[in-house]
Amino acid sequence: MPETIELLARKWWRFKSYELVDGFIRPREGAKLETFDPWQEMSDNGKPPYLTLTRLVESLSISSDGTEIKIAKSSEKELLDWCCRFGLLGLLPQQVLMFVLAPRWELVNNPFDMTLVPTQRCYLRTSMEWAGSRAVYEGKTAGRRRADQVVFFEKLPDRFQQPGVLFQDLSTGEIKQKSFTEAWRTFFPYLTAQEREAFRYPVPPSEAFWRMYAEPFSSFWKVATLFRETVEVLGYPKDNRTKSVVELDEGVELDKAKVDPLELMQGHRILCRLLESISPGFGLENDRWQQVWPCNSLLAAFALMYVHDLTSQNKYIRSCKMCSHLFTTSAWRGRFCTDACRWKMQKKIQRARANAPKVTSGRKKHMSSRRNLSRQ
Ligand SMILES: [Zn+2]
Repeated sequence: MPETIELLARKWWRFKSYELVDGFIRPREGAKLETFDPWQEMSDNGKPPYLTLTRLVESLSISSDGTEIKIAKSSEKELLDWCCRFGLLGLLPQQVLMFVLAPRWELVNNPFDMTLVPTQRCYLRTSMEWAGSRAVYEGKTAGRRRADQVVFFEKLPDRFQQPGVLFQDLSTGEIKQKSFTEAWRTFFPYLTAQEREAFRYPVPPSEAFWRMYAEPFSSFWKVATLFRETVEVLGYPKDNRTKSVVELDEGVELDKAKVDPLELMQGHRILCRLLESISPGFGLENDRWQQVWPCNSLLAAFALMYVHDLTSQNKYIRSCKMCSHLFTTSAWRGRFCTDACRWKMQKKIQRARANAPKVTSGRKKHMSSRRNLSRQ
C-alpha cells in the first residue's frame, strides 16, 4: 500500500530523547524515533496541546546578549522534556515550499539500462507529502561518471534549476529563493561549508531527515513566542491588564475592552500563513476511510487546533489575571486559570483595598460586591 494512503496526515514525529548542543535542539544519537497523533493528545487530556507550547514560553528562563537568545541551564530539562513529548516544531517543513537538489549521476529510469545520466531532483511541499520530480539531461557531458556523484555544469542546462530552496518567512510572509547555506544551515548544523550546497538532503519526513534535522533554540523560541502572542491577541482582544487590581475588582467590562487593530491583523495573518499549508485529505485507518487535515509541521497542527477552539461555541482562550498563563474556559468572563490563582488575586485585592482610600459611594460598594472575583 502506498505510504501516502495511510494516515500519516495525523502523525507527527518525536524521538525518545533530545539534547541541546551548541544552541541546537537535536535528537540524541541512537534515540528511538516514533510517531504520535497530536489530535489524540487533545482528546485524551482535554487540554489543548498548543497551550503546552504557550506555557513553555511563559516558564522558560532565557537571556540575550543582543545578538542571540540563550536558554538558562535551569530551563534546559523542561525544554527537552517538552520535545520528548511533542518533537520539534517543524520550522523547516513549515517554511520551505520547494527545494531543488544539485544534479547527480543517476541510472536512467529503466531497470535494463545501466547508463548514468545527469539527474536533478526537486521536491514540492503539498498538503499530503513532499512530491518529488526528476529532470534528466540527455545532452553530452564531460567528466567521469560515478553513480551518485555531483555533476558540475559550467552553465546549467535549460531543464535544470538552480539548486536551493524556496523559503517563506513565517513572520513576514516574504517568499524568497535562497541557497541551502542561507536557508538550511541552521537546521543541518553539522554539515561542513563545502557540503551544504550539493548535499543529498534526505526528504522530510523520512527517518533519515529527522535524524539529521535540528532546530536552533533561538528560532524555536522566537516562533513559539510569536505563536503565543498570536493565541493571546486573537483569543482575547486587548484586555484590562493595565488596570490596577482595585479597578479589576470594580469590574471592567470585557466587551468594551479595546482591540489593537494592528496586533489583531498581524496575528490573523500569521495564523492564516500557518493554515495555508493545510488542506483536507483522507486516508485509511483500521480499514476505514477517514477525513483528515494533514499538517506539514507541528506548528500548523497547533494552529489548526487553536482555530478549532477559537471558533467553537462556549470555548474561550483567556490570559489569567493572576499568573498571565493562557488557558481555555467555557465562561466568557473567565479570568483565572485555576482556583489557586483566583484565591491569590482575592488576597491581593484585599491587601490593595486595605491600603487604598476608603470608597464612600454606596452604589460603588454595591457594584463591587456584585462583580466579585469568584466568577470564573
Ligand atoms: Zn493563573
